[in-house]
Amino acid sequence: MKPKIRLCVEHPLGEGQQVALTREQAHYLFGVMRLGPGDVVGLFNGCDGEWRATVEDAGKRGGLLACQAQSGPQVMPPDLWLMFAPVKKAQTQFIVEKAVEMGARRILPVLTAFTNSERLRVDKQQAHALEAAEQCGATFVPEVAEPQRLDRLLADWEGRRILFADESAVGGAVSLSGLESGPWAVLIGPEGGFSEAERSRLRSMDCTTAISLGPRILRAETAAVAALTLWQHAAGDWRKGEGRE
Ligand code: SAH
Repeated sequence: MKPKIRLCVEHPLGEGQQVALTREQAHYLFGVMRLGPGDVVGLFNGCDGEWRATVEDAGKRGGLLACQAQSGPQVMPPDLWLMFAPVKKAQTQFIVEKAVEMGARRILPVLTAFTNSERLRVDKQQAHALEAAEQCGATFVPEVAEPQRLDRLLADWEGRRILFADESAVGGAVSLSGLESGPWAVLIGPEGGFSEAERSRLRSMDCTTAISLGPRILRAETAAVAALTLWQHAAGDWRKGEGRE
């Protein structure tokens, strides 16, 4: 049985390894989850897989865990980025959380012509990504990158394929058969959609595949989940039951 309570730590994990907890981690394990000495926690750090650890020492401001045995392998998500135009705070948080659950490897907010959002706190969104990874059984936390301007990003773009959710294709057939494997980025626009200049730039790039997400206009956060679902089904780690023993 895998440990139910999972924690992402910045610490090497291995047999007999002891892991000191931060104040926040101690508060979560001992204050919120009510764990005590001898209880079991699952640990991961993004590279050493998942480890079963026991509580050695539980304090208010800190504590100590000891790794016992590896409880799962390191599983990397496919080489898929989610690029999306930040929306309102709650919806942006939703997108980040769902991107982690859906198995994106990197989350890249992009500023498009019609992006109108409050300032995005990357540190806060990174913390939401970490929580989502702890909750969904992942052993990897995608980086939430600093927002970048879409036009500049595309000017230096090097070959990674782009799955472009193009609202002007609404109602078109949704087909992702024969999608190449390899590095991809899903691109979702803001509430206001893409500008004509952005659309023609994207459509002129060889690496871009423009897709419809069905007959209705979806909100950006719905579109993000829908596009990630389609990609995972067609080319990602949903296909062969990868990632689970
Ligand atoms: N205001 C725009 C819609 C923006 S929806 C309009 O009315 O045309 C936000 C983003 O979700 C879009 O930029 C696109 O990336 C994606 N999206 C939503 N519905 C879609 C659909 N049916 N097909 C393709 N992409 C869609």
